[in-house]
Amino acid sequence: MDITKNFTQLENFGHSLSAPAYLIQPKTAEEIYEIFQFAKKKGLTVTARGAGRSYNDAALTGGGIVLDMRGMNAITSWDKSTGLITAQSGATLEQLWQQVEPDGWWPPVVSGTMKTTLGGCLSANIHGKNNFKMGTIGEHVVEFTAVLPTGAEVTCSPKKNADLFYSMISGFGMLGIFTSVTMQMKRIYSGLISVDALPIGNLHEHLTALQDGAPNTDYIVGWLDTMNGGASLGRGQIHAAHYLHEGDDPDPAGTMKLENQILPPYIFGVFPKSILYMFMRPFVNNVGWWAVNMAKYVASQRKHTFRQSHAAFHFLLDYVPNWELSVGRGGLIQYQSFLPKETAEDAWREMLNISLKRRMPSYLGVTKRHRPDKFLLTHAVDGFSLAMDFKVTDKNRANLSRMLHEFDRIVLQAGGRFYFAKNSETTAATAQAFYGDETIAKFKKLKKRCDPNGLLESDLYRRIFG
Ligand SMILES: Cc1cc2nc3c(=O)[nH]c(=O)nc-3n(C[C@H](O)[C@H](O)[C@H](O)COP(=O)(O)OP(=O)(O)OC[C@H]3O[C@@H](n4cnc5c(N)ncnc54)[C@H](O)[C@@H]3O)c2cc1C
Repeated sequence: MDITKNFTQLENFGHSLSAPAYLIQPKTAEEIYEIFQFAKKKGLTVTARGAGRSYNDAALTGGGIVLDMRGMNAITSWDKSTGLITAQSGATLEQLWQQVEPDGWWPPVVSGTMKTTLGGCLSANIHGKNNFKMGTIGEHVVEFTAVLPTGAEVTCSPKKNADLFYSMISGFGMLGIFTSVTMQMKRIYSGLISVDALPIGNLHEHLTALQDGAPNTDYIVGWLDTMNGGASLGRGQIHAAHYLHEGDDPDPAGTMKLENQILPPYIFGVFPKSILYMFMRPFVNNVGWWAVNMAKYVASQRKHTFRQSHAAFHFLLDYVPNWELSVGRGGLIQYQSFLPKETAEDAWREMLNISLKRRMPSYLGVTKRHRPDKFLLTHAVDGFSLAMDFKVTDKNRANLSRMLHEFDRIVLQAGGRFYFAKNSETTAATAQAFYGDETIAKFKKLKKRCDPNGLLESDLYRRIFG
């Protein structure tokens, strides 16, 4: 196998990290196993990569082989009477919803972008805006197949090979490579979803609205104005969304048509969205973004209800393609912390105040309500999460890293957890502290069994399992 021509530089989604690797696109499970054998002979590490939408180093392995799983992306079966779908692991959520929605189904859990692959989503065990109600994506997986570095091809479900089921889902590709996934879709009765928008004055109100609103809704998500402090620190807006019931939509077949769901490529019918990020650049600084947030806050003061398509509600971040490039050359770091409902308010107050005081505010603030799950490397808690985006520059890189380590300390002290699809600074010591010795020992035992030669190693793996 000659892989020298495949040598390339790969980046994380936030463009704040990069690593050289041999990029190979397998088409079959046999090819994946051949690559493992080749890697063993050459002393190289291997990491799977889906759509490369992780904000951090999860899909990078400096100097090793990266398996580009997008070559295995077929939807192999779809049963519109039961809502069961089977697809290869490189299929994206975009493929999935576009297959099932016209037949009256929707994926039960989706990320804020539809570009992610099933393999990437299972590895991170993604959550949606309905985590408090529907759990993570892994809870809707009926069965998956995977290739282990030993060459074994395994089929796993909550009953069969259950230890692998609950550890490969959430395992960030460190135990084996998913090849195929069978999932249960959720019935819907309209292509539209009803959204209640609620203005929020401060952090206490914010978390109370998430807590009290969640039991009465299907989805709940908050926008938090991270540029504003003082008495109104934590202000923003809550969106609580409900599925329409059977009969609520007079034309469900029409609203579920793809042409009524797909996000338009133009603004005002003429302006291509693909270049919009360039026009955002002048605003992506502390003053510009403060003004953007202020305008958004003023515009969000009216309590109202509206209907929008499922795709528009779920995939807001796909509205502006390549928006992540708007922050400029240094890229961005996303920091998402998960905190128990009892400690979240104090911990986030401290973190938000630190970021404002040091003039390194987050340019994004997204809050969600969560529930725990039983996957081995779980990130969820009975509480809330706050996702923050920080612009990286040559000047602030070291200070930003220091501040995020301080955040880690605050989150740990508050009994919180971290999400390794996002955080890029969290260290092995922190990971050890929040996973706990028992979980780490269990994971290491499984790692030895599935990958005795230690072939599956990402930069993330080296960072958190040191
Ligand atoms: C705009 C945006 C919004 C997001 N919103 C959310 C959200 O709402 N909720 C949420 O939970 N996450 C969210 N994410 C994070 C994202 O869902 C995860 O990072 C997801 O893992 C990315 O999928 P991917 O296909 O791009 O995987 P990659 O980033 O390419 O890889 C992620 C991990 O999966 C592993 N992997 C990939 N394919 C396979 C395979 N076939 N077998 C084994 N391992 C594999 C990789 O080795 C890596 O460890 C968001 C990301 C972006 C960019």
